[in-house]
Amino acid sequence: MKTLTQRAWTMLALVVLTALLMVGTPSAADAAPIGISGQQVQVNAANRNAQGKTLPGFVELSVTGNNQKNQRVTWTWRGGASYSVTTTNWWWKGGVTIQAKYANGATKTCSGNVPTVSLSNTYAITCTSDIANLPPNAPSSARVGDILINSMAVSWNDNTGAINGEQDFRVERRSNNGSWSQVKIVPANTTRFVDTGLTMGTVYCYRVRAYNSAGGYSGYSNETCGKPMDPKLNGKKVTLDPGHGWGVDPGAVANGMKEKDITLEIARLTKARLEPYGIQVSLTRNGDEPSLTLSDAWRRVNGYNPNLAVAIHANAGGGTGTESCYVVGKSTSSQSQKLAGLLSNEVSRQMGLPKRGDFPENDASRCARKSVTGWNKIYIHDMEPVAALIETAFIDAKSPAPDVSMLRNRRGDFAKAISDAIIAYLRSY
Ligand SMILES: [Zn+2]
Repeated sequence: MKTLTQRAWTMLALVVLTALLMVGTPSAADAAPIGISGQQVQVNAANRNAQGKTLPGFVELSVTGNNQKNQRVTWTWRGGASYSVTTTNWWWKGGVTIQAKYANGATKTCSGNVPTVSLSNTYAITCTSDIANLPPNAPSSARVGDILINSMAVSWNDNTGAINGEQDFRVERRSNNGSWSQVKIVPANTTRFVDTGLTMGTVYCYRVRAYNSAGGYSGYSNETCGKPMDPKLNGKKVTLDPGHGWGVDPGAVANGMKEKDITLEIARLTKARLEPYGIQVSLTRNGDEPSLTLSDAWRRVNGYNPNLAVAIHANAGGGTGTESCYVVGKSTSSQSQKLAGLLSNEVSRQMGLPKRGDFPENDASRCARKSVTGWNKIYIHDMEPVAALIETAFIDAKSPAPDVSMLRNRRGDFAKAISDAIIAYLRSY
């Protein structure tokens, strides 16, 4: 029979054993799972046992805490939403910090507190992704299009998703490499903006970013640039034929000038005036062509296949004023006559020279005298596109006619008149 004393000793022994077990053998049973609610995350390398899942929101997570004796606690991902705690001393309690990282590099810190010493309680630390507070993704593939005289459209790709969508898009513009300024806010899911009131020929560049009030601005899209252009001119093709210079033919020679040189310079200046409109300008020759013949002029025109061709000449015979020649007997004849009329009108008006008239190519007293390809036609007849010839002024005009000084000193003004006539012609269709 046990005495009371024996019973007491037995009880004491059990208590001591239990206490020893509790203190001396922290084990898996000590692990206190920490529930991480909210977005499941992938942990970083510091938590190498916790190769977790990736879900929307966080891309990286680290969990730190200290036990009561300031010993570092490590946390092991147990799958699902729980992390277990391993510690050398189960007497732990205190703060736990979760440092989470978003895909865009932003971080979020979640803190919790394990309130009491425990062996088996489960503590939940909630760390919910604030991805709705992230800025939208940057738009991409910005590009200009629908280019007109004073407007063009800028389009982009909307890359925002359902959880960090944009509230609007902000379009920024700069011109001539100036500074950026916002020109338009367009609503969410809009991917196009037509910018109006622009100046033709000026280079405008655009970039776009998305915005939401919770997360702020996205990054910028790529930069895209364009020039407002007249669609009736932009992309059109014009060939200019500087008269003469083929073989040994200098054209008319008078007053120290050769026609082939005058016409080449006027052609070059005309080209420079047309190109800013987006017109592709070719010349039948860019210098003397001693080994070629006049027929190469129309062959080259046909090779370029332009929308129109203009032959530039200077007249001779002692007169004054400007005149033109147009083709007859072709499907392009009426257009040729129209182009010829615009050329002589503009030269006459802008230079203040008398207009002598527009003549059919087979007019023996005017154009046909220059024929080399047949008595009733001149070489522009063999140009397949609409073609006309302008006799700018007389290289051998008698004083006080202004022709000679104009051909010597105002070739740029002839070029302006000729380019204006070409532009007027192209715009009329
Ligand atoms: Zn000529």
